[in-house]
Amino acid sequence: MRGFPEAARIELANGQLRKNLRLATDTIQAKRARAVGELPDWEDLREAGRAIKADVLLHLGEYLPQFEAAVEAAGGHVHWARDAAEANAVVVSIALAHGVDEVVKVKSLTTDETGLNAALAAVGIHALETDLAELILQLDGDWSSHILVPAIHRNRAEIRDLFARTIAPGLASDSPSDLAEAARVYLRERFLSARVGVSGANFGIAKTGTVCVVESEGNGRMCTTLPPVLVTVLGIEKLLPRFSDLEVFLQLLPRSATGERMNPYTSLWTGVTDGDGPEEFHVVLLDNGRTRVLADPVGRQALQCIRCSACLNVCPVYTRTGGHAYGSIYPGPIGAILTPQLQGIENANSLPYASSLCGACYEVCPVKIDIPKVLLHLRTKIVETSAPVTERVTMRAAAWLLETPRRLTAARRLGRLAQRPTVRSGTIRRLPPPLSKWTKTRDLTALPAEDFRSWWARRHG
Ligand code: SF4
Repeated sequence: MRGFPEAARIELANGQLRKNLRLATDTIQAKRARAVGELPDWEDLREAGRAIKADVLLHLGEYLPQFEAAVEAAGGHVHWARDAAEANAVVVSIALAHGVDEVVKVKSLTTDETGLNAALAAVGIHALETDLAELILQLDGDWSSHILVPAIHRNRAEIRDLFARTIAPGLASDSPSDLAEAARVYLRERFLSARVGVSGANFGIAKTGTVCVVESEGNGRMCTTLPPVLVTVLGIEKLLPRFSDLEVFLQLLPRSATGERMNPYTSLWTGVTDGDGPEEFHVVLLDNGRTRVLADPVGRQALQCIRCSACLNVCPVYTRTGGHAYGSIYPGPIGAILTPQLQGIENANSLPYASSLCGACYEVCPVKIDIPKVLLHLRTKIVETSAPVTERVTMRAAAWLLETPRRLTAARRLGRLAQRPTVRSGTIRRLPPPLSKWTKTRDLTALPAEDFRSWWARRHG
């Protein structure tokens, strides 16, 4: 994986991307602020959401078997997957058993995390993405840059050209309704003939075994009801204890995500029902590093995330670089704390630094994940385990210098002498390597001609 600074530099050079991002995130932010402002008990809802999720994480050992029993009692099948390979193997074997060469999929970050489409492709099965934005990306061999608006980096004209090249030859209009119609015509036929559907899920209810998907286009409803076989891949942290907990989350999620009071489509199903929906239902419960994250008392709050993407839309880093710079399917502030924990911090150690620590993400998070606190926690871990030699030597030298006032005074005197050739108007613009990493992106204030201690001694003796 490319480091964030290098990837961000490339993305920042793309003016069109920045324009698209600014327009989209500003619009969603304003809608969210209006929708949230309507609720006088918003802060209470946030606290309730946080408390329910924290309880789930602490008692997963009870809620998971409860969920498994409830799904099986309702006629479904539960599969446990320790990692991405096991989860993919389950879905592949179900699809193969039904002899299909295509499955229809509703947008699912969890199956993106496991790389399911590639695993299905390896055995000759095409996974058709049915969410409009995901379809756009799939047709162009591109990948998501936003949790909720995966094609946020593309504009209408680009999409019209893509559709005209692929699914709608001759399409001339780039109006949203014509683009949606082109996708609808292409997808409708495939929905009606699909024999296996694959979904993720927003929530699973431990007590009843109910699975819940919220979405805006209705493709999720079709994927989960039309094919006779349905496979849902669910991260183990997605459980809620009771059905009534949805009351909290179905208010928090749409308002935080798209600034709507309610999602256009909220699909809930429990096992199988004769003559209604799929005849065969499978749930794959995915760990893939989540239990390791759970073991960290500070970092585990990242698992409370309900993927609303509000933190992305307010982040001054994400709104400039876009999602591809994060090199992960989880971009933005949540990606900066989730990806290093799921993949191992050594595999994504630049992400916790992809933040100005302004705290805007924490203020909008509907489940009150203290993202800045987790970022600092992860940075500490990185410094403790893999800081470069130069940094460790510098820190040790600083600790030695700061140990006694005499050493500090001597160091200041030396510093004032050493900085002379580089100071211009009270600032240092360029330092030699390795300190040049600092001055490459910001100026350094020069040491003053007289420091406070000397001034105090001069004045007061
Ligand atoms: S961290 Fe919070 S704000 Fe960000 S996506 Fe998750 S729930 Fe939403």
